[in-house]
Amino acid sequence: MKIMKIRNRYAPSPTGLQHIGGVRTALFNYLFAKSQGGTFVLRLEDTDRTRFDPAFVQNLFDTFQWLGFRWDEGPDLGGYCAPYIQSERTAFYQKAAQELLDKGKAYYCFCSAERLENLRNERESAHSGETGYDRHCRAIPKDSAESRVKAGEPHVVRLKIPLGQCTHFHDHLLGRIEWKNEDVNPDPILLKSDGFPTYHLANVVDDHLMGITYVLRAQEWLPSTPLHTIIYESFGWEPPKFCHLPMVMGSDGKKLSKRHGATSVDEFRRQGYLPEALVNYIALLGASYEEGKDVYTLEELVSLFSLDKLNKAPAVFDYKKLDWFNGLYIRAKSNEELAELALPYCAGLIKENMPLFIGAMALIKERISFLSEIPAKIAYLFEEPPLPEPSGFFPKKVGLAETVRLLELGKPLASTLCRCRKSEEEAEVFSKEEAARVAALAGVKLGDLMMPLRVAITGARMSPPLFGSLRLLGEEKALARVEKSLTMLKAALCG
Ligand code: GLU
Ligand code: ZN
Repeated sequence: MKIMKIRNRYAPSPTGLQHIGGVRTALFNYLFAKSQGGTFVLRLEDTDRTRFDPAFVQNLFDTFQWLGFRWDEGPDLGGYCAPYIQSERTAFYQKAAQELLDKGKAYYCFCSAERLENLRNERESAHSGETGYDRHCRAIPKDSAESRVKAGEPHVVRLKIPLGQCTHFHDHLLGRIEWKNEDVNPDPILLKSDGFPTYHLANVVDDHLMGITYVLRAQEWLPSTPLHTIIYESFGWEPPKFCHLPMVMGSDGKKLSKRHGATSVDEFRRQGYLPEALVNYIALLGASYEEGKDVYTLEELVSLFSLDKLNKAPAVFDYKKLDWFNGLYIRAKSNEELAELALPYCAGLIKENMPLFIGAMALIKERISFLSEIPAKIAYLFEEPPLPEPSGFFPKKVGLAETVRLLELGKPLASTLCRCRKSEEEAEVFSKEEAARVAALAGVKLGDLMMPLRVAITGARMSPPLFGSLRLLGEEKALARVEKSLTMLKAALCG
């Protein structure tokens, strides 16, 4: 058996931001190539000049820089198949189209846009159901077509699809796929009138010239594959192997789209997902690796990946699961690392108090799914929080007067806890015991004692851990907050 080294590629068209589906294709190609000691190529398919925008190319580079995995050859790195940008490869496609013309596998078409438009309209009014080109110019004798071209008549080059036969290919996941040639897009354009190739020609020519052995791409390209197979056969080239990846759906079973939430990597990045978490989650979209395990580093994925681990069934993009992953990766960071990652999200907050900021990370680490949640969660440590109405301080079934008494009990307790100089762990144990002791002594429930104190310190009934917050704030600030709340509550009592 011939053992072929894997060469595969990610071939995006820079007509939009990088999204989950594209990254999944790139990642699976990367994992497949790396797992096989092969080569992963990036090729820019920018033949659609009307939708091209250099900002999308920049976004592509930025996205993968951030995600942390790379191609081995590409527009930025070069390689022996350079250039890797289709708009710089026009000569290759023109030569290839000429080759097919010479072989009689392609022909010139002189149909005007107007004729094609009329054709569409006629078919529509006749409800014929026929679509695509009617192979009108296929019958023009070669010499007369060539003289018309020489005379400067506008033309395109079309593929001459062999009729009366079938085309088949093997898809790794879907098995043998066979199409009647009559059902393939009828004689599609290969070279446009401006001399630029269409996607189909450029894609096939480049996969051939770049020595691509395996095409792993999204299932939406499956309908193009019979046509691509015919183009390979017309050239007499061996086609690469194909594997069309399972679709990525939203939770409603429809193709993942904006309706479901963020889909561009940029958006996830802005919300504060970590690249490791996103890569890990995307690697699970349509593949399963080890029974009962779904947290993997990129290196682990490389060593585990194989095409046999792909699933046939569509993958479901589960935003909740991604959040869970992200939380996991966030908690694995040290406070210092997390602070650094959180910094861009908290610009207005921290001023120069970096130690407080790092300390705050320990308090919220367990409670967040992504980084942009951080500023709102820790703001109370940096600025006095706005206080709620008196009732916002009340423990369940407790009124104003009792709440004032509870907060007065809480005040010296807060002092004691702020002064505790033990290690974090010991301080937590000490604080719990001390709070329980004070509550027991006063004959009140521990929860009731804590509630008004928590609201006074953090401004909210639900907050990051209170004891840790007290230690971070320090006695002076903590007592000032308690005092302020007491004054307000007492005023309400008198008023
Ligand atoms: N340029 C196509 C795209 O935008 C590439 C399809 C393929 O991988 O063959 O996805
Ligand atoms: Zn024509």
